[in-house]
Parts: sequence; C-alpha cells; structure tokens
Amino acid sequence: MTDKYRSDFKILDQNLVYLDSAATSLKPKYVLDRMEEISGSYISTLSRGFGQNAENTEYLVNTTREKLASFLGCLGGSNSIIFTPNATSAINLVAYGYVDRVLGTDGSILVTNEEHHSNILPWMRLVAKSFDRSLKIADITKGNYLESVLSLIDDRVKLISLSLVGNVYGRINLEDIKIIIKEAHRRDILVFVDAAQAPLSVKIDIKDLDLDFLVISSHKMFAIGNTGVLYVSDRIINDMLPAIIGGGTVSDLKIDVTSLENSTLKVDINTMDKIVTCFDNYHRFEIGTQPVLDIISIGYAIDYIESIGVDKFHTINQENLAYLIQRLKQLDFVNLIEYPNSKEDRSLSSIISFNIKGIHCHDVGFLLGEKNICLRSGMQCASLLLNSLKVPGCLRASLGIYNTQDDIDSLVEELTNIHILFSKK
Ligand code: PMP
Repeated sequence: MTDKYRSDFKILDQNLVYLDSAATSLKPKYVLDRMEEISGSYISTLSRGFGQNAENTEYLVNTTREKLASFLGCLGGSNSIIFTPNATSAINLVAYGYVDRVLGTDGSILVTNEEHHSNILPWMRLVAKSFDRSLKIADITKGNYLESVLSLIDDRVKLISLSLVGNVYGRINLEDIKIIIKEAHRRDILVFVDAAQAPLSVKIDIKDLDLDFLVISSHKMFAIGNTGVLYVSDRIINDMLPAIIGGGTVSDLKIDVTSLENSTLKVDINTMDKIVTCFDNYHRFEIGTQPVLDIISIGYAIDYIESIGVDKFHTINQENLAYLIQRLKQLDFVNLIEYPNSKEDRSLSSIISFNIKGIHCHDVGFLLGEKNICLRSGMQCASLLLNSLKVPGCLRASLGIYNTQDDIDSLVEELTNIHILFSKK
C-alpha cells in the first residue's frame, strides 16, 4: 500500500476521508495548476474567432481530442471523438440519432440488470415508441454474466449496451464483453459500452474491442467540470443524425426568408435534410458554445494518468480494495453486496457496496459525513440491480490512488461506532 500519490491532491491536506471516487474523482494539483495557468489568459470560444486566443483554444481542444483518441486506442483517430455535456447525454445522442432507426418496429435492446439508470432509461424510452419493440434485461446476480447475456441474444436484438465496470458490484466485465462483442458482430448487432467507471481500472483499447460506441465521463478521471466523451465508430458516425441540433453543427442552412409564403416555413423531416447540411464527424454533434476549459482539462487529466499508468492505478486500487473488503468482512454487522464469483475472477475495480444490518444507508451515510468520511448512499442509480437483490439502498465505498490504509481504518472505526450507537437504542 502506498501513499506516494496522496500529496498530488491538495484537498487532502484537510481532514478528509474521501471514499467516493466512483461518484467523482478528486482533481490533482497538476490539472488544477494547468487550468489556472490557461483560464486567466489565452482562452476564447471554439471555432468562432481569429487571433492568438482563438488559435490557442483551437490547438488545446484539438490536442485533447487527439490525446483521447490515443488514450482510448480509437480506430479512425480523433474524428470519432465527440464531446457531450455528460455521459448520459452521449447515450441519448446515440439512442435518438442512430439506434431508433436501426430498431425498426420490432427490434430489441439488450442490457443487464446492473446498468446505471443512464444506460437503461434512454433505451426504455426508445422501445416505448413502438409496441413491438422490447428491452431485454439479463440477470447477472447469480454470477453468470457471460451466459446470462449470451442466452438472451436472438434475431430481434439490434443493440447490446453494457457497462465495462459496474457502479455497484464494481466488477470489470472486460473479458466477457470481448466475447459478447464477437458474437454480436457475427450477428450484425451493435454494441455500446458504457465505460463511465472504467478508465482508471482498465486499459481501454477500442481497436482491440472493435466496438461501435463507447462513452466515458471525464470528471471520474481527474478532469474538471463534466464532459462526456463519446466514441462512435467511423462505420457509423456520418450516418448518425444529430438528435440535438443547433449552432456550430451545420455548414449550410438554405432558407430564403424573402421567398416564404405568409412568412411561414413548412418543413418535414425529409425536406429538413435538404435544407440543412450538417458538418461531418464530431462537428455535427457538438452543439452551441463548447465548455472549452472543461474539455482542455481532460487532456491534462490524461497526462497525469499516463504519467502513472492505468495498470498502476489498478494495482493500487485492488490492493486497497482487498484490505477494505477484508476489514469489512471482520464486522459481523455488515452485509456486503458482491458479485457472486468475485473471489475467483479477481476482476474487481475499486468499488465495494454494503449495508449495516438494521440501519438505513442514509443514516449511516449522514453520520459518516459528519465525520468528514465521504461515500455514497442510496440506490446508486442502479435500481434494477438493487431491486433484484431486494435491497432498498446501500452504501458504496469507492477508492482512488490517493486513499490509504488509514482512510479504510477510519471508515471501519466509524462504522463500528455507528453500529454501537444504534445497538443502544
Ligand atoms: N454510467 C455509469 C456506470 C455511471 O457510473 C455514471 C455516473 N455515475 C453514468 C453512466 C452517467 O454519467 P454522467 O453523470 O457523466 O452522465
């Protein structure tokens, strides 16, 4: 166990036990310092101006897009990388811009019951548009991830959407997903990978995975703000419609207002395509003024991650997680929520979910917060999984490279105090 990287995170100079990195990571000094350097000076809006500031901004955003393409191992290079307001928006963009058409009247989408609400609700709404469409939900709670997904694939399935790392079990599903992608593509089924929780646990290599869509969430990997980063395969990107449209996405808008009858424009979806010419690649999806500082910070976040190496993150987190799980298992008042075979497959990331017997998770979360021990309590946006397990909510501790054995000991000590407090009632 190492505290080598702790001093990279200035906020930890305060008395803070931060065990909520799956919600958002702390921001390293390296990223914050770079942002302070650039934000006060040479920044402008993107693609809207000339001069030194505009050129600098363009350069920094382009560099970030290239760094992301290389970080994710993109086929097709940086043209396939789209910035969106968050990961959830990216999933909706793909749902309405592409999957809606592919589904036809009776197609199905296949997910698992461990998906985040953001990887279920957009698909649910899409299938609700037509009576014969359906959402298939694989139950992975028996510890049979691969079989439960494969067994639901049939000729009506047009898209499989899976999280690379689940946000309750924290299991890394990479090896199973590789097999699922092969089977899906053999049957012309699209694959979307929700990698929001993955970049600090798994080396993502899109070339190797050969998938169709992937999304990450920048604030969980040291960037400021929150930008979704969506990869869309170059087989698809220029066929995908901009489901949300506006300034910055079109090269031409052919409306002659002087020739309108009664000042009225009549337009249907087919003529719309003739009137509006969208840019190619990512340009057609990045609507309005872009959050350039948030975007640029992703480039610095990648510098930081690569200076350490994703493997190192994974090793440190696994070591800390093993210690945390071992300590929690010593507490007979704790119920762990674990993927059934996690002991065998050693594919855990940095997350463990649990409850204290007889105490509501929000009560525990609140009392821990009073001691400045931060973790997440509630449904974790994973109602399908928790409902399947008949658990009305849980606590989730999630680790970062800044955590130490002392953090874990503080958590365990405070959980014990809370248990004692409630036992006296
Ligand atoms: N998928 C997973 C697995 C997540 O953990 C999250 C965020 N908690 C999301 C999707 C949604 O990400 P965002 O908040 O960037 O929309």
